[in-house]
Amino acid sequence: MPANTASPDTFLLIKAGRLIDGVSDKVIPNGAVLAKDNKIVAAGPASSVQAPEGASVEVLDYPGKTLMPGMVDCHTHHNGFGDGRPGDSLADIPDEILALQSARNARASLFTGVTTIRENGPKAYTMLRLRDAVNAGITQAPRTVLCGWPVSIIGGHMWFFGGQVTGENEIRGMVRRLIKDGADYIKVTATGGTTATSYPLLPSFNVDELTALTRTAHDLGKLTAAHCSSETGITNALDAGIDMIIHCMFRQPDGTNRFSEKIAERIAKQGAYVNPTLHVQRSTPWALEEKKRDRSLTKQEQQKLDHMWQSYEWSMEDSRRMVGMGLKIITGSDSSWTDYKLGNAVYEVEQLVDIGFTNMNAVKSVTLDAARALNMDKLVGSLEPGKEADMIIVDGDPSKDVKTLWNVNEVFLAGKRVERGSDGSRAVFHQSPP
Ligand SMILES: [Zn+2]
Repeated sequence: MPANTASPDTFLLIKAGRLIDGVSDKVIPNGAVLAKDNKIVAAGPASSVQAPEGASVEVLDYPGKTLMPGMVDCHTHHNGFGDGRPGDSLADIPDEILALQSARNARASLFTGVTTIRENGPKAYTMLRLRDAVNAGITQAPRTVLCGWPVSIIGGHMWFFGGQVTGENEIRGMVRRLIKDGADYIKVTATGGTTATSYPLLPSFNVDELTALTRTAHDLGKLTAAHCSSETGITNALDAGIDMIIHCMFRQPDGTNRFSEKIAERIAKQGAYVNPTLHVQRSTPWALEEKKRDRSLTKQEQQKLDHMWQSYEWSMEDSRRMVGMGLKIITGSDSSWTDYKLGNAVYEVEQLVDIGFTNMNAVKSVTLDAARALNMDKLVGSLEPGKEADMIIVDGDPSKDVKTLWNVNEVFLAGKRVERGSDGSRAVFHQSPP
């Protein structure tokens, strides 16, 4: 549980060799943050950040290290295992087991520096109940932005999580029910995906159905996000006024890929966020390459590997173009899905650098920009007075090299230091390249 050594009247003053506040592009040498209870009181150069005269202050000093906002992962699957099993297999696992697995994954997220997650596809009430358990003090997790469960067509991507509907009325009903039950935003699968009975290259809901979904959600003050693994899904989602395009793949019904500058311009014009989910597309090829070192692959496995590398290259190239066009691109890991485990969000941040982000912009994509995409930027994403004191200490300077985000030394959630266990217990979360 989070350590809370100080009395409620005590201020927490954290000093570090450098401060990335999440707002400025400049790193502040010898920075500090002053927090009281769960909130940030002041942040800036250490010389200017002081507790009121005579106040009781707990001081923590991290010379040579970086103090920065906790990371925000906009795309998680906390039910998942990340050990190669297909998403469909979750359908057969009891909800109680999935809730426990989610609790384990939530610790992996939090202990590796992710202090806010947006969950994109759990089964039934598993994540809503995990949040209840966190609120009851039973376990710990990052701040959770929940969809309840995703909305899909019959047999569509992730149908087995409980959101199968047909037609505008059923969609309106499902959205209202999700929000009544605690959903913070609405996730919809606008195309098929890896689900066996779905069609990843074809649209799922029609535009009228998607529009019913976005209108109902927006009328109740909630954002929407759509899984789009092919082009018609993207255009349908844009027609419906979706707020975030997930995957954003320009695949055609015949399986080829054709990037459309016109559609990308439309995404920019409508101000929709793009979550390209790059590392998840590399993680299964990595696993197959690993297998290949131990034994020769079957013909089927080799074909799968070739296809997945091709698909990954298409996504990298298209995402590079979208970065060049200035689209709003944020970090969302899509873990734990197939071979990508929670606790490894940094791989996705690295991939944003690979497609043209500066290191500092990649840091923002997993802090303030991600918070903006979730409409959470009044609460988290940067170190500014009035915001929640969600902070991490990093060994190294992420503004120069995002790989240093692997070296998270401390995590603070709502002004409390998180007890993260031993290095050894955290090491089990980490996945390595083949
Ligand atoms: Zn996903």
